[in-house]
Amino acid sequence: MTLLDPSIRGDFPALEQRLRGRPAVYLDSACTTLRAEPVIQAMVELQRGPLGCHGRSAHSFGRATSLAYEGAREVVRGFLGAREAREIVFVRNTTEAINLVAWSFPWRPGDAVLTTDLEHNSNLLPWQRLARQGRVVHRVLRVDPAAGLDLAALQRRLQGVRLLALPHVSNLFGIDFPLAEVVRLAHRAGAVVLVDGAQGVATHPVDVAALGVDFYAFSFHKIFGPGGGGALYGRAEQLETLRPFLAGGGTVESATYDDARFEPLPMRLEAGVGNYEAVAGGAAAIQYLQKLGQRRLHRHVVELNRIATQGLSRIDRVEILGPADPEKRGSILSFHVRGMQAEGLARMLDHSAGIMVRHGKLCVHAWFDAQRAPDAIRASFSAYTTPDEVQRFVRTVAGGVDMLG
Ligand code: PMP
Repeated sequence: MTLLDPSIRGDFPALEQRLRGRPAVYLDSACTTLRAEPVIQAMVELQRGPLGCHGRSAHSFGRATSLAYEGAREVVRGFLGAREAREIVFVRNTTEAINLVAWSFPWRPGDAVLTTDLEHNSNLLPWQRLARQGRVVHRVLRVDPAAGLDLAALQRRLQGVRLLALPHVSNLFGIDFPLAEVVRLAHRAGAVVLVDGAQGVATHPVDVAALGVDFYAFSFHKIFGPGGGGALYGRAEQLETLRPFLAGGGTVESATYDDARFEPLPMRLEAGVGNYEAVAGGAAAIQYLQKLGQRRLHRHVVELNRIATQGLSRIDRVEILGPADPEKRGSILSFHVRGMQAEGLARMLDHSAGIMVRHGKLCVHAWFDAQRAPDAIRASFSAYTTPDEVQRFVRTVAGGVDMLG
């Protein structure tokens, strides 16, 4: 049996919600997952316990908070397979992690940044803005979503690239990228690799040291954790080169009115009092996910995707985006219905059946613009999603296509 035991649903209080008298069906986990009870507990405990300032106040509450914060850093280190805790920087989310690299990297005149054409806005706009300021040249590598990344094409485009930024898993198609090969090619060409891991970490075990990636970013809220917290892994040699784009409290050893001496890693990259609650919740989320097992979660969502794919494929006018094989799309099923507005169908699913899916350009606006593609609907699955919910979704889409005609 590849499906997880449905009793896992008891760990997610939000599933007790009912919408217009029906149980809520949440199929938008790629946007944000529901929060797990142990995560909620960890955050409440932190807030009720001895809470002071991390790394600054030497009194008992301050020390207790530092201990909890650094304990959480160690959890993230182990989760990503980083060699040293100082290679983990706490940030608000994936978006901030990518911006931290973009705005702090020691760019040289003429540097090129290469991304794919499937980037989430968070891994496109920072590079685009740098390019508009003339600080880098931004190049875009086309990827055929059905075939996946063409390594030979990547190799050709890496010529003269200083930094390659790409997703671990695409939030539009669910396809993953072969990081080990990508890193090998990029390093051979002298490029640094930044991985947007927002959609990757839930279902793909990561070993940053073995992979050799230079930067890896992810958000806690995609793995049952809270919003407002995430982490950037950076290989120590790379992190050392960053010139922090945020400077302030907690980052300096000493300062005068005209100069400052910065703390060692990671403190000098964590300006201001951090989000202790999110960090505590994030560590609890990682431990919850580790108990569940990323590979088991992957098998579960693929099985659900198979049910959904088979069901939707039988509906006339439905076009699934990306590879036909659900195994290659993991937890994600994006689709169009020919001749039908995505928004109308998404609203109907919510209002008539309490089924919540995402619709629109899914924060990959540039791809939709380049392809002149209509808005899509995306259903995404997680640990708490059941086959019954997926079947209800398929039946309601079929009914909607009939009705909205
Ligand atoms: N990259 C990808 C691939 C994503 O799916 C997301 C979230 N939708 C992000 C980046 C941005 O994540 P966050 O909003 O947590 O910064």
